[in-house]
Amino acid sequence: MHATLTHPRVNLARPQPALAPDVESFYHLPHGEHTGKACQGTACFAAKHFNPARWAEANAQNPRIYCLGECFAAPAKGQTHPRPPVKVFSREGIVLGRIAAGGARTLAAYEKFGGYGALQQALGQTPEQVLAAVEASQLRGRGGAGFPAGRKWRAVASQPAGEKYVVANADEGDAGAYIDRYLMEDDPHALIEGMILAGYAVGASKGYIYVRLEYPLAGEVLRAAIAEARAAGWLGARVGGKDFDFELEVYTGHGSYVCGEETSLLRSIEGKRPEVMARPPYPTERGLFDNPTLLNNVETLVNVPWIVTHGGAAYAEMGFSKSRGTKALSLNSLFNRPGLYEVEFGVTVRHIVEDLGGGLRGGGQLKGVLIGGPIIGIIPPHLIDTQLGFEELAAIGAGVGHGGVVAFDEHTSIPDLMEHVFSFGAYESCGKCTPCRSGSGRVEEIFANALGGDATQADLQECRELVVALKLASLCGHGTGLARFAESILRYYPTEIEPCFK
Ligand code: SF4
Repeated sequence: MHATLTHPRVNLARPQPALAPDVESFYHLPHGEHTGKACQGTACFAAKHFNPARWAEANAQNPRIYCLGECFAAPAKGQTHPRPPVKVFSREGIVLGRIAAGGARTLAAYEKFGGYGALQQALGQTPEQVLAAVEASQLRGRGGAGFPAGRKWRAVASQPAGEKYVVANADEGDAGAYIDRYLMEDDPHALIEGMILAGYAVGASKGYIYVRLEYPLAGEVLRAAIAEARAAGWLGARVGGKDFDFELEVYTGHGSYVCGEETSLLRSIEGKRPEVMARPPYPTERGLFDNPTLLNNVETLVNVPWIVTHGGAAYAEMGFSKSRGTKALSLNSLFNRPGLYEVEFGVTVRHIVEDLGGGLRGGGQLKGVLIGGPIIGIIPPHLIDTQLGFEELAAIGAGVGHGGVVAFDEHTSIPDLMEHVFSFGAYESCGKCTPCRSGSGRVEEIFANALGGDATQADLQECRELVVALKLASLCGHGTGLARFAESILRYYPTEIEPCFK
């Protein structure tokens, strides 16, 4: 017997329910159009000298908008349909291949690239075979933590049969990252196929795509693609005529960076105030509506059809060390050639900066690079021969993160960057932990004072202590990431920091 489509809490035809006042007060952004709004994200901060008036406009805006996913045109002001250059430099264009070849927004276009062939193939196999292929691929999560995807899939598959969920984390809020945005807008069926394959492998019959509010076109395109997939028999009861049901729904976020954290995201879908929750239990055991839930980010899931078609071993042949396969990178407007590029793990940061990005615009001098968002360690120029890999970047205090690459040139003041990142951190804190709720705002204040010439060595010492507290007493990566960022700044840029404190 195939599982029946019983989802008492889910009505696919319903609009998203209104939020309770105590839930709504958590979020920053009203639903509606963001075209024409100026962005205050870190890629726009790095590029503010290109257009100071636009940056001033972003700073005057309330509520703030942190990252529109247009970092290639930073400082950005929401355009209607902006498109970055897209190129594949890996042996296989697994993630960006279709977009580089013109995109596959419709089912017909996706089928020309062999779309849904992996699902057809998988439905002739057992779920265990699909799961084994993902394990063999050594695919790791592309949303930040780099957790082995196969281990997560196995954990959900091992839970007793019953209601299970697959959730795509499309809350790409890390400033500088615009990978998932264009995957959803220009290749939506790859995500849908990846999610159906995941559902088949782990025994789930329902999926959600949690799309951030700042990406309205992505939500629109995905809803149309889901309707196409359903009409073609790839969604709904008896997928592909087999004994397997799977339904999919888009859930639009409400404008909160912290909803990219998994427990927060799931609570957001449930209509609860999305504060971060302590783990365990992990979502793989008790996730959405208390059921086992597989949560992967968009790029992770987009890799899956290729892995199923070509086998896990073929995927694992690419990349290096413990980082296998390819990674999509999004380069900001400081580069001569900003854009979306797919590379194999193992290339150096220097290769990304100099060969892919073509160096910095206007002959700018590289002051540092952030890969994967603002709450991660910065890479100073003397370390750019480090290879792109989870462990390799972690060893220098940085990370792969989401893969957004934000370069800073000589126009960026490092104390100003500290103030910017901690202002973002304080604004987006969920408020659960004291060092994050209060401490990040205090670090912002200390650096604002330092920039005004009104800070002492005692303030700097207080800042160092707050960073330690953030590192030790934060429940989620928001607080610990802020600490990692601050540690890297204090370690690598003492000559810019120390003189600001009397
Ligand atoms: S570290 Fe910050 S965002 Fe994370 S749970 Fe604590 S208060 Fe919330």
